[in-house]
Amino acid sequence: MKLNIAVLPGDGVGPEVTREAVRVLRAVSDFCGYDFKFEESPIGGGAALEFGLPFPGHTRERCLASSAVLLGAVGGPQFDSLSNEQRPEAGLLALRNACGCFANLRPAIAFESIAECSPLRPERIRGANILLVRELLGGLYFGEPRAIDVEGKQAFNTMRYTEHEIERVARVAFRLAERRSKKVVSVDKANVLETSRYWRQIVTRVATEFPEVTLEHALVDSFAMNVITYPTRYDVVLTENLFGDILSDETAVIAGSLGMLPSASIGGKIDLYEPIHGSAPDIAGKGIANPIGAIGSAGMLLRHTAKLYAEADSVQIAIEAVLKSGLRTADLLPASERSKACSTETMGKRIAEATVEALNSRMAYFAV
Ligand code: NAD
Repeated sequence: MKLNIAVLPGDGVGPEVTREAVRVLRAVSDFCGYDFKFEESPIGGGAALEFGLPFPGHTRERCLASSAVLLGAVGGPQFDSLSNEQRPEAGLLALRNACGCFANLRPAIAFESIAECSPLRPERIRGANILLVRELLGGLYFGEPRAIDVEGKQAFNTMRYTEHEIERVARVAFRLAERRSKKVVSVDKANVLETSRYWRQIVTRVATEFPEVTLEHALVDSFAMNVITYPTRYDVVLTENLFGDILSDETAVIAGSLGMLPSASIGGKIDLYEPIHGSAPDIAGKGIANPIGAIGSAGMLLRHTAKLYAEADSVQIAIEAVLKSGLRTADLLPASERSKACSTETMGKRIAEATVEALNSRMAYFAV
């Protein structure tokens, strides 16, 4: 198995957590005798300052020539004065566009061993396992026209969705639901927005291609309350770009910390993997960020791009085992116990070791 992975560490804690994700992938590659190659390229505010653009041409070429992209995070207050084209977030949108990945998978799992990290009551989150499928290339983030019109003293963005954009992401959600609990909730704002009414119409039609899967529609405002009140009610959640961005940070509360959540963006030319959190400027450079979201993203790379299911399962088993052993980064501890926190590196090393242990015991099991 050969994989040529473009690694884009980015800004803030991006390089710190990405290093640990690469460590885990290297451990899998070494143990299984695969040929994984990693090549780093700049993206984000740092890239804009050095090369004039947040997604320089050479980074784009490297990404398009790779098997998959592993991204850290971009942004930070030190880049606030950059022009619109140079803003780190513009680099992120350009990367997603270049890769063409339109379906963003964001799992939020309530691990039993860190149930106490969530402000929600343990009995509410026990067993919660939500897979949010967010449309990634349409809606307000990409719609034209968009502008700040200084003379007219107004600003505007455009929310637009085509039939094709809705159909293709809906099919991804239904296919995933077929392999899970066979339930999809599609979230929109159909009581107010035309784009949402159209979204609902197309999703309802796509659902007829998947007779085993039941479809429910929900309005985003009440869904935002219900998903946090009754998280175990939901399985696959399908939604558009902006709603998905907001709802996935909300579902991080179920997982206990923003640092826990991985993501995969698939469906285009090149798959893109990144933790859902940002560059966390408040903790950047301290070596204390939680790398589990980035490591989980590496696990999703093994599953969705490489189709190495046993290896992907081993990463997941390792994350659960290390959490069960009591190891915690600072975000997973109450303020009074943060002196007991481990570093980003220690968490990464332990998960890499546990991944190899999981692969080893799997081999031993099948050898019996
Ligand atoms: P953020 O996700 O960076 O941080 C929010 C809070 O979560 C902070 O308190 C932070 O310390 C904590 N946190 C985040 N990741 C963590 C981790 N791995 N371990 C422990 N704690 C973690 O969101 P923000 O503060 O709103 O944004 C900061 C910058 O990141 C902004 O410039 C924003 O535009 C950018 N951003 C980038 C991405 C991306 O690259 N995909 C996503 C969101 C925000």
